[in-house]
Amino acid sequence: MKKIGIYVHIPFCKRKCKYCDFVSFENCLDSQDEYINSLLKEIEDCDKTGFTVNTIYFGGGTPSVISEDLIVKVLEKIKTKFTVEEDCEITIEVNPGTVNKEKLETYYKAGFNRISIGLQSSSERLLKIIGRIHNYEEFYNCLKMAREVGFENINVDLMLGLPNQTNDDLVDSLNKVIFLNPNHISLYSLILEENTPLEKEMRIDLYKLPTDDEERDMYDTAKKILERNGYIQYEISNFAKKGFESKHNLNCWNQEEYLGFGVAAHSYFDKVRYSNTTNLQDYIVNQKANVTINEVQTPEGEKKEYMMLGLRKLEGVSISAFERKFEINPLFYFRFEISKLVDEDLLEVDLDNIRMTRRGLDLANIIFEEFI
Ligand code: SF4
Repeated sequence: MKKIGIYVHIPFCKRKCKYCDFVSFENCLDSQDEYINSLLKEIEDCDKTGFTVNTIYFGGGTPSVISEDLIVKVLEKIKTKFTVEEDCEITIEVNPGTVNKEKLETYYKAGFNRISIGLQSSSERLLKIIGRIHNYEEFYNCLKMAREVGFENINVDLMLGLPNQTNDDLVDSLNKVIFLNPNHISLYSLILEENTPLEKEMRIDLYKLPTDDEERDMYDTAKKILERNGYIQYEISNFAKKGFESKHNLNCWNQEEYLGFGVAAHSYFDKVRYSNTTNLQDYIVNQKANVTINEVQTPEGEKKEYMMLGLRKLEGVSISAFERKFEINPLFYFRFEISKLVDEDLLEVDLDNIRMTRRGLDLANIIFEEFI
């Protein structure tokens, strides 16, 4: 039987961060009960069958900003509705400043076994610039409490390429986080989305963004520090202690199927990618209003996407796994694309893997363009 992931979107935040264009709403916490009722209904009404669940991920938004009892209700509903594997990875995203020990304990007792904490930077100056609600101390306490209640699988999110961020700022964040020894660290580059408050401030030159070269230096520095400290890079932006790679992430990059529940949640099932309405009220009234079919995959589209997602991983795409899935050798099917990228020193091929070179890792977008 196939294994799939489940994603649950909790679209509430205490306050919007200045760079954020995710579907999340501030000042809407009064709607949390209604929202969760709709979420429970959407899960109950789901007619997809024929799978077991091997990862569950509560993301947002800030799942930890709403009542922990509501979160537990949703997890319980998933467990009764679907067959959840015993070793299922069950993650919840939390933000410092929105949790206390009781809340974390409730999550842990309900079955969450992985926690992902959004720090982004240890610098108070930078946290203020990007509009985060918390400070470093709140993050420190959050991680400490998560450990105390029993979490053994902890991720910390960091960012690079922030306005006015220097290499030293990033090194300081990394050192502080590594000292606390989480099992997993994600390090994403800031994407300055149009019309976000931060983008508007950048238009009037309020801050200075690192240049491309400076950002590449930061990334290189971070990789060295993380690797020196036992964090193995397994994807462009993700590093983990051995055995703690995120199953949820890997499912996405291995083109496994998943069902998304909640406003704006995306799903991928039976070769169709679709997403729920992004309008909170529409979702509360009728969860299935305005579901958008984003893509019905053709056999060619599916293969291209498999390459594009798989090449994000440092181990790359396994030739034998591709052959098992598509009954054709990728080196033959994509012979023109692969030989061009190998000639440009962006990809390398060994006995069973097609993967990015060091140069390819810096220029990943050029690789992905070949498979669009
Ligand atoms: S906490 Fe996350 S989802 Fe909420 S506003 Fe900040 S970046 Fe956006």
